[in-house]
This record gives sequence, structure tokens and C-alpha cells, in this order.
Amino acid sequence: MPCYYIWTIGCQMNKADSERISSYLEQAGFQATRRAEEAEIIVLNSCVVRQSAEDRVINKLGALKSLKRGPQNPILALTGCMVNSRVDGLRHRFPHVDLFCRPQAVEELGQFLASRGLAAPPKPDSPLPLHPSPSTFVPIIEGCDKFCSYCIVPYRRGRERSRPVDEILCEVRWLAQRGVKEVTLLGQNVDSYGHDLPATPDLADLLAELNEVDSLSRIRFLTSHPKDMGERLIEAMAQLEKVCEHLSLPFQAGDDDILMAMRRGYSAKQYRELVERIRDAIPGVALSTDIIVGFPGESEEQFERTFDMIRELRFDTVHAACYSPRPGTIAARKLRDDVPLEEKRRRREKIEALQEGIASEINSQLLGQTVEILVEGRKKGKWQGRTRTDKLVFFSDEDDHIGKLVRVKIEKTSPWALQGSLAG
Ligand code: SAH
Ligand code: SF4
Repeated sequence: MPCYYIWTIGCQMNKADSERISSYLEQAGFQATRRAEEAEIIVLNSCVVRQSAEDRVINKLGALKSLKRGPQNPILALTGCMVNSRVDGLRHRFPHVDLFCRPQAVEELGQFLASRGLAAPPKPDSPLPLHPSPSTFVPIIEGCDKFCSYCIVPYRRGRERSRPVDEILCEVRWLAQRGVKEVTLLGQNVDSYGHDLPATPDLADLLAELNEVDSLSRIRFLTSHPKDMGERLIEAMAQLEKVCEHLSLPFQAGDDDILMAMRRGYSAKQYRELVERIRDAIPGVALSTDIIVGFPGESEEQFERTFDMIRELRFDTVHAACYSPRPGTIAARKLRDDVPLEEKRRRREKIEALQEGIASEINSQLLGQTVEILVEGRKKGKWQGRTRTDKLVFFSDEDDHIGKLVRVKIEKTSPWALQGSLAG
């Protein structure tokens, strides 16, 4: 059987896109391989949100040059956020790439393979996974209209486009019939879901519909934007039993002038108040956040405001990134990247050390408790799954538990994961 190799970096949206590309290729008769040298088709799903990610893509493209020159001469396709509208520039830089397709472009890949007589073009539903994981991503809104000053995503993924409620509902029912127990609804800014649809449904409406899908047990969504996270959504989270107590709510910076320069559209006080409202309405909710350190002009004092916010709000998870100027963005055009890299790293490490302590304390409270997890797979001989609050849990057992909701008694905790054994 001919093989395909797919390499993915970046956000969950890229992972979801890759799952769908894989599904199309498998339905077209290709088999996945972990070795690029065995493949007839190679797909790189790229991320350029920071320079470090872009460098990895460029290295990967470089490493594949010799394969293109070899006897196998595989088709090499590049997708994801590295692909901009100026494909000519990319073609000039990477002449060994056969196809550049914009994110979520299974169609384009299909047409290309069909033109080479390698595969039939995808049917409308063929990108759905043939053997979906018990926990599956479902994109609901593509693109972003926010234009935060540092971010390249709106330039690469375009304006917001919501998928109709019926289409998502149909897909989630289809997935649930094939054993999917949990869906994670994806978008750069899921809270603005629906504003571009004729009846302007919102995310709360969509959650209410999905909550009724038989045999589906859990619903998550990410990423939320603090400016758009309204009362209706908080209420829906509190009331709909399948919607998990877990929220990804990036605040990016704790200082108001930096937030303004980032064009985030809220103040640190508004963010704190929002967290308070969420915690009041949804007891036990787990919060994840993203922050950027070393944004242009960020003084030590301003950084300390971010640090204080993390100490005070006690998130379950914090993703800290060093600011990286992205060509074409407002910040890269107008602001000097004046915080030295070593200083950015120092700030990031300081945040990481603080968060490690906080996560360790939060997780240790689960010691001796019994939690419900959805078993997603096996790693190093152990079953692994997540709680509704997105805590990673490992346990050992002889039986097959994949796709099942099981109860596990927690016996060991760390800042990153929990270990336990089956309860009762
Ligand atoms: N839509 C989400 C995040 C999308 S990008 C949101 O609004 O938060 C994912 C994360 O990458 C962001 O949360 C941000 O922390 C980080 N990021 C984006 N652009 C960046 C840049 N230029 N430099 C460093 N980190 C960046
Ligand atoms: Fe980027 Fe801001 Fe859109 Fe998130 S909301 S994708 S950070 S522009």
C-alpha cells in the first residue's frame, strides 16, 4: 500500500487539520508511516506564530530536500500558517515543495493529487476521521478578526468564518456514533462563534444543541477571548452537564499599557473580574492561560504585574512565550523589539518556576480523591486519560479501557500529571 507521512507543529487547530488530512489520505488508499523516506506523499503542517516554530519548519523543509532528489521523489506539500497569499515568494524560497495550500485546505490537496492521478478528490464528508479518537477536535470557527498587534494568525488564517450549527451538530452526532465521547470545539476565538451566520447563533446556543447528542459525554471549547466571554456563555457552562469545567482564557499581560499596545481590548482589572465571575458561577473550574513576556517596551515593573497576576489568580496551566516579532504585524512594524532575548528567557523562567509551584499545590489537593477520566490511549505501558478539568491521569490495568469513562483513585501527583489506580 502507498504511504503518506504527515508532520505537524503548532496549535490544536493544526492538529485537527492534520487529523482530517490523514483521514482523507487513508480513505484515498494511503497508509500512515512514521518514516518520511517510505512515503509517496509528505505533508508538513506548519506554524509561524513564533520565530522558533518557523525555524523548525524551515529545518524540516531543508532536511527533506535530499529525499526529493532521491529515487522515491515524494510529493511534498506544505500547509498551515507558513503559507501566505504570496505563494510565488514561497515557491522561490522552497522550489522543492510541490504544493502550498492554505490552512484547512484538504480540498486543494485532493485536487492536486487527483490532477496527478494519485487519488480521487475528497468527498464532502471524507475528511472526517475513519477511526476517531475517544476525544476528538471539531473546528467550529476558522480565522480571527481580532488583530492583536503581535499576532500573525489573522494574516494567515483570514477573517472569522463560522460553520453552521447544523453542520457541526451532524458531525458531532456522526462522531458520537463511532465511539467519540468527548469533543473539543476549536477556534482562535470560539467566543465570537456565529456572529457571521444568518441567524447569529452564539457559542451558548451551539453548546446547548450539542449537549443533547446521545452517547456524547463531554464537551470542551478553546480558545476563549476575555473580551468576548459573556454571561450567556458562563451560564451555559454552569448549566449544561456535558460542558466540562475547563477554560482556556489567555490574558497575555498583567499591565494595562502593555495590554493596550497588544490591542487586547480589556484591562487587567476587567480580566480579574471576569475570572471572579467564572469561578463564582462554575465551582472547581480549571483555568489555563497564555502570556507573552518581553513585549516591546515591557519594563521590569510591567513584567512584575504579569507575574503578580499569575501568583494571585492561580491558574491550573500557564503557557509562557517570549515575544517574537512577526513580520507584517502591527507590533513588528511599529514597535522596537527592545527586550534582550536573555532577559525574555529570564522572565519566562521566573513565570515557569512560579507556575510549577502553583500547579504542584493545586494538583496535590487531588491526592487520595477519586476522579472520573476518559481513557484516550496508552503511554509507556499505562492507560492515560483526562479529568473533566483537563488533568492528565495515568493508571495501570490489564483490561482494555480505551474510550471508557473510569474512576481512578489518585495516589501520586506532580505539577504536570497524576497517577492512580482503578477505583471500585
Ligand atoms: N487565539 C488565542 C491564541 C492564538 S496564538 C488568543 O487569543 O490568545 C497562541 C499563543 O501564541 C498566544 O496566546 C500567544 O501567547 C502566543 N503568541 C502569539 N503571537 C506571538 C508572538 N508574536 N510572540 C510570542 N508569542 C506569541
Ligand atoms: Fe492572535 Fe489575538 Fe486572534 Fe488570538 S485573538 S489568534 S492572539 S489575533
